[in-house]
Amino acid sequence: MRNMVAGCVSAALLLLSACSPSDTSGQLTRFQAGFIGTFDTYIQVLIYAETRAEFGEHFDSVRDLFEHYHALFDIFNEHEGINNLWTVNSSAGREAVAVDPAIIELLLASRQAYADTGGALNIALGAVLSIWHEYRSYGRLNPDEAVVPAYSALRAASLSTNIQNMIIDEQAGTVFLADPDMSLDVGAVAKSFAAGRAADKLRERGVVSAVIDAGGDIAIIGNALASGGRPWSIGVRHPLQDGNIDTMRVTDVSAATSGDYQRAFVVGGVTYNHIIDPSTLMPAVRFASVSVAHSDIMVAEILSTALFIKPFDEGLALADRLGAAVIWVEHDGTVHFNEAYRDISANFGG
Ligand code: ADP
Ligand code: MG
Repeated sequence: MRNMVAGCVSAALLLLSACSPSDTSGQLTRFQAGFIGTFDTYIQVLIYAETRAEFGEHFDSVRDLFEHYHALFDIFNEHEGINNLWTVNSSAGREAVAVDPAIIELLLASRQAYADTGGALNIALGAVLSIWHEYRSYGRLNPDEAVVPAYSALRAASLSTNIQNMIIDEQAGTVFLADPDMSLDVGAVAKSFAAGRAADKLRERGVVSAVIDAGGDIAIIGNALASGGRPWSIGVRHPLQDGNIDTMRVTDVSAATSGDYQRAFVVGGVTYNHIIDPSTLMPAVRFASVSVAHSDIMVAEILSTALFIKPFDEGLALADRLGAAVIWVEHDGTVHFNEAYRDISANFGG
């Protein structure tokens, strides 16, 4: 079997499978646990540690960070005692809001992402995304009554999606949305920001081998110790059938996937997914999934969304320019990958 799992991480939309806690390497034992309650997804944490108690402390530090960033980046709820993105959105057109430095960093990275992706990833699309969000939530709960938003409403909302109107004052530590009808949606960047910070925290704590899987955005530290220090094996879920289409073998490189098989809804037999192409204001339809590996997990997540939207040729050029390894899967099962991907692929390597 060529794609034998080297670690015992097997990801299905990059989800980790259960592993034996007795899997040891030298003094370190592999422990794994997960939690819910942040970013609308299950977070799995796998760490090599000396003792279960030490693992518990690492795990708590990861969960605390996710909870912290979830509160800051929440666009749906006010959180007592802090100015979060809900506060920023609620203050649009009225006043600048003093925010935590992490919010400024997330927004600056998102502005860079807009430039890098030629506008395919735009966190200022909130006005359009919130309409889709409402129809998707309703359609998933009431499949018989599911409908698609009116194009006229999407078009009207799209007039308030100019990211230049997101005014960041780094010195003052404030954010101001200059258009009263605009809003930010960081759904395409927040999870990887949190996972990346959590991985940094684990490194600070002396962890040398770990995987944090935030619902398909996977931060990776080191290699799979129990397999004799071989790379971690990260399964790439087949978007069209059960099982994995490939396995990525990576060391200190993170991964992210965007797919249309999650968080979608169906109207009249047509599936509408949650990634919106800013040029059509409709769900992106070119691919069934795009998975990306990059040393920077935020770049991986940003590219997975942007390349899910962009035509293949443009996406390929962007992936190569940013040094990412990428696999695209079309709805008919056709697979594309770039040169960098070949190097980490179990099935398509050469
Ligand atoms: P997932 O949430 O499954 O990780 P993505 O990372 O691809 O999926 O992000 C999807 C989310 O990003 C959507 O739920 C929405 O909030 C937001 N989003 C959708 N389309 C865009 C876009 N073109 N630019 C920026 N954000 C987007
Ligand atoms: Mg994502």
